[in-house]
Amino acid sequence: MGDQATIGLIGGMSWESSAHYYRLINEAVRARRGPTASARCLLWSFDFSEIEALQHAGRWDELAERLADAGKALERGGADFLVLCTNTMHRLASELQAAVDLPLLHIADPTGEAIQAAGLRKVGLLGTAFTMEHAFYRGRLEERFGLEVVVPDADDRALVHRVIYEELVAGVVREESRHAYREVIARLVAAGAEGIILGCTEIMLLVGTDDSPVLVFDTTTLHALAAVERALG
Ligand code: GLU
Repeated sequence: MGDQATIGLIGGMSWESSAHYYRLINEAVRARRGPTASARCLLWSFDFSEIEALQHAGRWDELAERLADAGKALERGGADFLVLCTNTMHRLASELQAAVDLPLLHIADPTGEAIQAAGLRKVGLLGTAFTMEHAFYRGRLEERFGLEVVVPDADDRALVHRVIYEELVAGVVREESRHAYREVIARLVAAGAEGIILGCTEIMLLVGTDDSPVLVFDTTTLHALAAVERALG
Protein backbone atom coordinates (compact mmCIF):
# COMPACT_ATOMS: atom_id res chain seq x y z
CA MET A 1 0.00 0.00 0.00
CA GLY A 2 1.60 3.20 -1.12
CA ASP A 3 0.29 6.72 -0.97
CA GLN A 4 -1.38 8.29 -3.96
CA ALA A 5 -1.80 11.82 -5.25
CA THR A 6 -5.24 13.44 -5.40
CA ILE A 7 -6.55 13.86 -8.95
CA GLY A 8 -8.55 17.02 -9.62
CA LEU A 9 -11.04 16.31 -12.41
CA ILE A 10 -12.72 19.18 -14.25
CA GLY A 11 -15.66 17.47 -15.90
CA GLY A 12 -19.32 17.61 -16.75
CA MET A 13 -18.33 18.31 -20.37
CA SER A 14 -20.26 16.21 -20.70
CA TRP A 15 -21.04 14.11 -17.62
CA GLU A 16 -21.53 11.16 -20.00
CA SER A 17 -17.76 11.06 -20.49
CA SER A 18 -16.90 12.14 -16.95
CA ALA A 19 -18.72 9.05 -15.68
CA HIS A 20 -16.37 6.96 -17.84
CA TYR A 21 -13.33 8.80 -16.51
CA TYR A 22 -14.45 8.05 -12.97
CA ARG A 23 -14.94 4.37 -13.73
CA LEU A 24 -11.72 3.99 -15.74
CA ILE A 25 -9.64 5.74 -13.07
CA ASN A 26 -11.04 3.66 -10.24
CA GLU A 27 -10.72 0.40 -12.19
CA ALA A 28 -7.08 1.17 -12.95
CA VAL A 29 -6.29 1.94 -9.31
CA ARG A 30 -8.01 -1.30 -8.27
CA ALA A 31 -5.98 -3.27 -10.84
CA ARG A 32 -2.75 -1.83 -9.48
CA ARG A 33 -3.46 -1.61 -5.77
CA GLY A 34 -5.95 -4.37 -5.00
CA PRO A 35 -9.71 -5.05 -4.89
CA THR A 36 -10.70 -2.49 -2.27
CA ALA A 37 -8.36 0.26 -3.48
CA SER A 38 -9.85 3.26 -5.29
CA ALA A 39 -8.72 6.61 -6.60
CA ARG A 40 -8.34 9.67 -4.43
CA CYS A 41 -10.00 12.36 -6.50
CA LEU A 42 -12.11 15.48 -6.60
CA LEU A 43 -14.59 16.23 -9.38
CA TRP A 44 -15.80 19.65 -10.45
CA SER A 45 -18.77 19.01 -12.73
CA PHE A 46 -20.16 21.84 -14.88
CA ASP A 47 -23.70 22.25 -16.19
CA PHE A 48 -22.85 21.49 -19.82
CA SER A 49 -25.84 23.43 -21.19
CA GLU A 50 -24.11 26.61 -20.03
CA ILE A 51 -20.73 25.54 -21.41
CA GLU A 52 -21.94 24.60 -24.87
CA ALA A 53 -24.00 27.80 -25.18
CA LEU A 54 -20.88 29.86 -24.42
CA GLN A 55 -18.78 27.76 -26.85
CA HIS A 56 -21.20 28.25 -29.72
CA ALA A 57 -21.50 31.97 -28.92
CA GLY A 58 -17.69 32.24 -29.12
CA ARG A 59 -17.47 33.43 -25.49
CA TRP A 60 -14.07 31.84 -24.80
CA ASP A 61 -13.12 34.65 -22.41
CA GLU A 62 -16.06 33.75 -20.15
CA LEU A 63 -15.23 30.05 -20.50
CA ALA A 64 -11.65 30.72 -19.46
CA GLU A 65 -12.92 32.38 -16.28
CA ARG A 66 -15.17 29.44 -15.49
CA LEU A 67 -12.31 26.98 -15.98
CA ALA A 68 -10.04 29.11 -13.81
CA ASP A 69 -12.66 29.19 -11.02
CA ALA A 70 -13.05 25.40 -11.19
CA GLY A 71 -9.30 24.87 -11.15
CA LYS A 72 -8.87 27.14 -8.14
CA ALA A 73 -11.68 25.38 -6.28
CA LEU A 74 -9.99 22.01 -6.85
CA GLU A 75 -6.67 23.49 -5.77
CA ARG A 76 -8.24 24.74 -2.51
CA GLY A 77 -9.83 21.33 -2.09
CA GLY A 78 -6.46 19.62 -2.09
CA ALA A 79 -5.95 18.35 -5.65
CA ASP A 80 -2.33 17.63 -6.59
CA PHE A 81 -2.82 17.98 -10.34
CA LEU A 82 -5.64 18.74 -12.79
CA VAL A 83 -7.30 16.63 -15.46
CA LEU A 84 -9.58 18.55 -17.84
CA CYS A 85 -12.00 15.87 -19.07
CA THR A 86 -12.64 17.25 -22.57
CA ASN A 87 -10.51 17.78 -25.66
CA THR A 88 -12.34 20.91 -26.80
CA MET A 89 -11.79 22.88 -23.62
CA HIS A 90 -8.04 22.35 -23.95
CA ARG A 91 -8.31 25.33 -26.26
CA LEU A 92 -8.09 27.17 -22.91
CA ALA A 93 -5.36 24.98 -21.40
CA SER A 94 -2.86 27.81 -21.03
CA GLU A 95 -5.44 30.13 -19.44
CA LEU A 96 -6.36 27.41 -16.96
CA GLN A 97 -2.72 26.63 -16.26
CA ALA A 98 -1.98 30.31 -15.63
CA ALA A 99 -4.76 30.50 -13.01
CA VAL A 100 -3.47 27.71 -10.75
CA ASP A 101 -0.23 26.49 -9.23
CA LEU A 102 -1.08 22.87 -10.02
CA PRO A 103 0.18 21.05 -13.11
CA LEU A 104 -2.36 20.25 -15.83
CA LEU A 105 -2.13 16.82 -17.46
CA HIS A 106 -2.81 17.84 -21.09
CA ILE A 107 -5.07 15.35 -22.93
CA ALA A 108 -3.02 15.51 -26.15
CA ASP A 109 0.15 14.29 -24.43
CA PRO A 110 -0.79 10.70 -23.51
CA THR A 111 -2.45 10.54 -26.93
CA GLY A 112 0.70 11.65 -28.74
CA GLU A 113 2.81 9.26 -26.68
CA ALA A 114 0.55 6.30 -27.52
CA ILE A 115 0.67 7.12 -31.24
CA GLN A 116 4.45 7.40 -31.13
CA ALA A 117 4.70 4.12 -29.22
CA ALA A 118 2.64 2.46 -31.96
CA GLY A 119 5.15 3.75 -34.50
CA LEU A 120 2.60 5.80 -36.47
CA ARG A 121 3.18 9.20 -38.03
CA LYS A 122 0.03 10.19 -39.92
CA VAL A 123 -3.24 10.12 -37.97
CA GLY A 124 -6.86 11.14 -38.53
CA LEU A 125 -8.56 13.34 -35.92
CA LEU A 126 -12.24 13.18 -35.00
CA GLY A 127 -13.64 15.70 -32.53
CA THR A 128 -15.75 18.80 -32.27
CA ALA A 129 -15.36 21.48 -34.95
CA PHE A 130 -13.36 23.47 -32.38
CA THR A 131 -10.89 20.63 -31.96
CA MET A 132 -10.66 19.69 -35.65
CA GLU A 133 -10.47 23.23 -37.02
CA HIS A 134 -8.26 25.13 -34.58
CA ALA A 135 -4.55 24.76 -34.01
CA PHE A 136 -4.49 24.19 -30.24
CA TYR A 137 -4.86 20.43 -30.49
CA ARG A 138 -3.40 19.45 -33.84
CA GLY A 139 -0.54 21.88 -33.31
CA ARG A 140 0.50 20.23 -30.06
CA LEU A 141 0.51 16.79 -31.70
CA GLU A 142 2.47 18.09 -34.66
CA GLU A 143 5.02 20.10 -32.68
CA ARG A 144 5.62 17.87 -29.67
CA PHE A 145 5.20 14.47 -31.26
CA GLY A 146 6.14 15.07 -34.91
CA LEU A 147 2.80 13.75 -36.16
CA GLU A 148 0.91 14.65 -39.30
CA VAL A 149 -2.75 15.18 -38.42
CA VAL A 150 -5.49 14.94 -41.04
CA VAL A 151 -9.10 15.98 -40.45
CA PRO A 152 -12.31 15.10 -42.33
CA ASP A 153 -13.62 17.40 -45.07
CA ALA A 154 -16.13 20.15 -44.21
CA ASP A 155 -19.28 18.01 -44.61
CA ASP A 156 -17.83 15.20 -42.53
CA ARG A 157 -16.63 17.63 -39.86
CA ALA A 158 -20.15 19.07 -39.61
CA LEU A 159 -21.59 15.58 -39.22
CA VAL A 160 -19.06 14.54 -36.57
CA HIS A 161 -19.70 17.78 -34.64
CA ARG A 162 -23.50 17.49 -34.88
CA VAL A 163 -23.55 13.93 -33.57
CA ILE A 164 -21.43 14.95 -30.56
CA TYR A 165 -23.60 17.91 -29.54
CA GLU A 166 -27.04 16.59 -30.52
CA GLU A 167 -26.62 12.96 -29.52
CA LEU A 168 -23.59 11.80 -27.55
CA VAL A 169 -23.54 14.49 -24.83
CA ALA A 170 -27.25 13.73 -24.36
CA GLY A 171 -26.52 10.02 -23.93
CA VAL A 172 -28.06 9.13 -27.29
CA VAL A 173 -26.22 6.42 -29.27
CA ARG A 174 -27.67 5.77 -32.74
CA GLU A 175 -26.75 2.95 -35.09
CA GLU A 176 -27.06 5.27 -38.10
CA SER A 177 -24.54 7.66 -36.53
CA ARG A 178 -22.17 4.77 -35.85
CA HIS A 179 -22.46 3.84 -39.50
CA ALA A 180 -21.82 7.44 -40.57
CA TYR A 181 -18.73 7.66 -38.32
CA ARG A 182 -17.42 4.41 -39.81
CA GLU A 183 -17.63 5.99 -43.25
CA VAL A 184 -15.82 9.12 -42.08
CA ILE A 185 -13.08 6.92 -40.60
CA ALA A 186 -12.80 4.97 -43.87
CA ARG A 187 -12.36 8.23 -45.80
CA LEU A 188 -9.61 9.35 -43.40
CA VAL A 189 -7.85 6.01 -43.90
CA ALA A 190 -8.19 6.41 -47.68
CA ALA A 191 -6.51 9.82 -47.22
CA GLY A 192 -3.54 8.09 -45.60
CA ALA A 193 -4.39 8.01 -41.89
CA GLU A 194 -2.55 5.14 -40.19
CA GLY A 195 -4.51 5.57 -36.98
CA ILE A 196 -7.62 7.44 -35.77
CA ILE A 197 -7.79 9.72 -32.74
CA LEU A 198 -11.15 9.70 -30.97
CA GLY A 199 -10.47 13.32 -30.05
CA CYS A 200 -13.67 14.00 -28.18
CA THR A 201 -14.28 12.26 -24.90
CA GLU A 202 -17.78 11.06 -25.86
CA ILE A 203 -16.83 9.42 -29.19
CA MET A 204 -15.88 6.20 -27.39
CA LEU A 205 -19.58 5.82 -26.57
CA LEU A 206 -20.25 5.41 -30.31
CA VAL A 207 -17.23 3.79 -32.01
CA GLY A 208 -14.19 1.76 -31.06
CA THR A 209 -11.64 -0.67 -32.41
CA ASP A 210 -14.26 -2.70 -34.31
CA ASP A 211 -15.33 0.32 -36.33
CA SER A 212 -11.94 1.10 -37.81
CA PRO A 213 -9.55 -0.76 -40.13
CA VAL A 214 -6.62 0.97 -38.37
CA LEU A 215 -5.71 1.50 -34.70
CA VAL A 216 -7.93 3.88 -32.73
CA PHE A 217 -6.65 6.13 -29.95
CA ASP A 218 -9.40 6.82 -27.44
CA THR A 219 -8.51 10.04 -25.63
CA THR A 220 -10.84 9.30 -22.70
CA THR A 221 -9.10 6.05 -21.82
CA LEU A 222 -5.58 7.31 -22.55
CA HIS A 223 -6.12 10.43 -20.43
CA ALA A 224 -7.72 8.53 -17.53
CA LEU A 225 -4.91 5.96 -17.46
CA ALA A 226 -2.26 8.67 -17.63
CA ALA A 227 -3.92 10.33 -14.62
CA VAL A 228 -3.64 7.10 -12.64
CA GLU A 229 -0.04 6.66 -13.72
CA ARG A 230 0.74 10.12 -12.43
CA ALA A 231 -1.26 9.67 -9.20
CA LEU A 232 0.34 6.37 -8.29
CA GLY A 233 3.79 7.14 -9.63
N1 GLU B 1 -16.24 16.14 -24.53
C1 GLU B 1 -16.03 16.70 -25.80
C2 GLU B 1 -14.56 16.84 -26.12
O1 GLU B 1 -13.78 16.05 -25.66
C3 GLU B 1 -16.92 17.78 -26.26
C4 GLU B 1 -17.65 18.56 -25.21
C5 GLU B 1 -16.99 19.86 -24.98
O2 GLU B 1 -17.17 20.73 -25.79
O3 GLU B 1 -16.28 20.01 -24.01
O4 GLU B 1 -14.16 17.68 -26.87
